[in-house]
Amino acid sequence: MTNSPSSAQQKSGQEQFLTILSREAALAGFEAALFPRPLPTETRTLADVLGLVLAEDVAVPVDVPPFDRSNVDGFAVRAADLAAASETRPVRLELNAEAIACGTVPQLPVLTGTATSIATGGPLPRGADAIVMVEHTHPVGLSAIEVGRGISPGQFVSNAGSDMARGEVVLRTGTQIGSREIGMLAACGIAQVAVARRPRVAVLSTGDELVQPGEPLRAAGIYDANGPIIAAAVTENGGEAHFLGAFPDDEATLEAAMREALAAHDVLILSGGTSKGAGDVTHRIIGRLGKPGIIAHGVALKPGKPLCLAVCGGKPVIVLPGFPTSAMFTFHDMVVPALRRMAGLSPRVDAQVTARLPLRVPSELGRTEFVMVSLVQGQGGLTAYPTGKGSGAITSFTQADGFIRIEALADHVPAGADVPVTLFTPRVRVPDLIVIGSHCVGLDLVVGELSRRGISVRSLSVGSLGGLAAAKRGECDLAPIHLFDPKTRNYNAPFLGDGLELVPGWRRMQGLVFRRGDERFEGLGAEDAVHAALADPDCMMVNRNQGSGTRILIDQLLGAERPDGYWNQPRTHNAVAAAVAQKRADWGVTIAPVARAAGLGLIPLTEEHYDFALVCARKDRPAVHAFLEVLQTDEVHSALERAGFSRPG
Ligand code: AMP
Ligand code: MG
Repeated sequence: MTNSPSSAQQKSGQEQFLTILSREAALAGFEAALFPRPLPTETRTLADVLGLVLAEDVAVPVDVPPFDRSNVDGFAVRAADLAAASETRPVRLELNAEAIACGTVPQLPVLTGTATSIATGGPLPRGADAIVMVEHTHPVGLSAIEVGRGISPGQFVSNAGSDMARGEVVLRTGTQIGSREIGMLAACGIAQVAVARRPRVAVLSTGDELVQPGEPLRAAGIYDANGPIIAAAVTENGGEAHFLGAFPDDEATLEAAMREALAAHDVLILSGGTSKGAGDVTHRIIGRLGKPGIIAHGVALKPGKPLCLAVCGGKPVIVLPGFPTSAMFTFHDMVVPALRRMAGLSPRVDAQVTARLPLRVPSELGRTEFVMVSLVQGQGGLTAYPTGKGSGAITSFTQADGFIRIEALADHVPAGADVPVTLFTPRVRVPDLIVIGSHCVGLDLVVGELSRRGISVRSLSVGSLGGLAAAKRGECDLAPIHLFDPKTRNYNAPFLGDGLELVPGWRRMQGLVFRRGDERFEGLGAEDAVHAALADPDCMMVNRNQGSGTRILIDQLLGAERPDGYWNQPRTHNAVAAAVAQKRADWGVTIAPVARAAGLGLIPLTEEHYDFALVCARKDRPAVHAFLEVLQTDEVHSALERAGFSRPG
């Protein structure tokens, strides 16, 4: 075995990423190992070239138009005949005995003192040098016309080759072919062109846990998101993607699949299995697939550190990190440039805008960090809210408008900084209504009704306190909140400051949840249920995070007790329900709709008030009116009730 970095890595099983390369060094090494390389081309007919890249310069084989032709319906004339024509002294021209339609070859010359009827697109007859529009003539019987104005030679005539001249190069190598280019090619009679062949890209997911969408999820299973998202992103960037499925972390099976895929494709992209856990074997296999092998395994990116870039036998082999957002950022940042180059495409240019960060964004020193952001229109311009839920979250992709890049040498970006935001879409979409605060499934029902009425809503979930802060800065119309004030024993109202008013929302029953049939809890009231839980040392609880309204409630229930599970403090109602349903805990506190969806029993504790802090200055906006109106409709009331919420009387 040679002493390459990859074999050194193999020997030191535990060691993670012997050499972490900077983003720039990894990119440079990868490109240097791949380029220059010949661009494979193929000849395709016009029906089959949309979106492809021209691999040859196109010179026009004929003049377009091929002959001098009329641009209007009228009469072909000699301009000199009309030099003296005026309204008061019209000139009379005798009509020649033919009418030139499109596709008609003229037979008779236009002699001095004559005119020939001609349609738009008709070829100019011999002798004629201009067209007079039919609107500017008067018939004189059937065989003559009068013209009451002069015209200049060449008027309303398109000369042969005036659009495209024979021999002229009209399209150049590297042009991406759209409908306009196809039109040009067709107009000069070209039926087929040489184009760059799309690189064939094999996409493979790895992981024992992966389940294909459409299949039932088994215990500890995860849906394979990377396969479809990578295949689509490959197509978006000029590749021809072939998704080959998800493979278990088994070295022999995986190696066979990778060898087969590499033989039949130009590029191999895997995801998962790069973080060198027990089952992570792909990087070992890559070491055996061909030279020069691994270029980078471990790149100073966040997310995306486990990225592995390799070139085997001249073909790129890439292992993207397992988490879908990490996979996507590394794909777009590190793989797309090479893929587009292999496809003959020019580098991608994404739209950018400048936006202000409302809060300090910490960043790890030494890693180039990507932070997804949602844009809202603030008073002084755009504000960029980080949507990050951690690298495992995929919703950020649909909520985010784009991302910011924090360079490796920065350890934070200060609050209030103006930052460039790279957009995911060509333009910023400004929503009609902005709601920032605590999320609730009930809110989705209201938003649904608004969007049926054509009102677009951006709803960012940053928690109640984050929402209030955004409302005070004037960045949203409404902030949904559920904050309990233990002093006044009141919800929400005590937390509003100047410039905000309370719009009553709905109530959510908070209760102690347990698995149905658990005799420790079945049939008990709240107080007895807590006693029962505390009396059983095997009974495990699940708590909530500090700062949540639910946590205040739990601490009241427990007093000084700290039962097993107290330090398990997830951040969502759903996580509490999942922990109890999956038997990682026996009881917790969550809201009734969530308990019901998870099939859990619920012992009611108290009703939590979920209301809206309305920014007074934004009260007159039409979208705010619509929101307030929709909140009162019977449809929304009954939808909320069906989902397990109640409206204040
Ligand atoms: P790995 O790099 O294999 O250790 O995976 C890191 C994380 O990404 C784990 O939580 C995996 O379950 C998850 N993951 C890996 N592959 C996929 C995939 N194709 N779709 C969704 N999640 C994945
Ligand atoms: Mg894995």
